[in-house]
Amino acid sequence: MSYHPEELLLQAYVEGTLDDVAAFTVAIHLESCPICKRKVTMLENQCGDKLANAQTDTSIDDFDAMFDSIVALEQNSEPFRAPRKAKPIIVNNKTFMLPRALSRFSSDIGEWRSYGGKVYSAPINIAEDCRVNLMYIAEDVRIPQHTHKGMESTLVLHGGFSDEDGHYEAGDYLVKDASIKHSPFTKPGEDCLCLTVLTEPMVFTQGVARLFNMFGKGMYP
Ligand SMILES: [Zn+2]
Repeated sequence: MSYHPEELLLQAYVEGTLDDVAAFTVAIHLESCPICKRKVTMLENQCGDKLANAQTDTSIDDFDAMFDSIVALEQNSEPFRAPRKAKPIIVNNKTFMLPRALSRFSSDIGEWRSYGGKVYSAPINIAEDCRVNLMYIAEDVRIPQHTHKGMESTLVLHGGFSDEDGHYEAGDYLVKDASIKHSPFTKPGEDCLCLTVLTEPMVFTQGVARLFNMFGKGMYP
């Protein structure tokens, strides 16, 4: 794994200022990335220190009152929540286990759509202002060159793919902005499942391939 969320993104994640979708994308990356996990722990500690050192006017009486009100709360009769289990998804007759952070949204995953049996996508209906999709690319497939309007973040969940800039493997997190043209591809024997978050439709810049023709000028993978 060699592509990670930027430091600023991790900082925002720790401070809780990221939007929900970006936050859960980062959370999924953290599940498989000890490097960023370490960074987040460090940032959390810094954040905690800042909080601890911040001047407050809370007196001990306030604390007692707070404690009293906590113990006065009705006891929660709900059983402890079972730890989130990884859930499977099936695409192109293959079964993949979803990361735990994603598994809790498994009931929000829509129908898989096949693009010529080579690219498959399923929306995850969790956000209004951006498109969240699972995308599966079968082996040995090249997606026509395109640019993005807006931003696209991609998190590789299984397998890998390449584009003009490099090769990406499970756990890699990349963000492309509108100015970057790229044509992702998988090699023979390599397929790829990823999570994509798009703020605007993609626009193909290179003679739109037949495979994608029917979807007009923009498509969500
Ligand atoms: Zn990382």
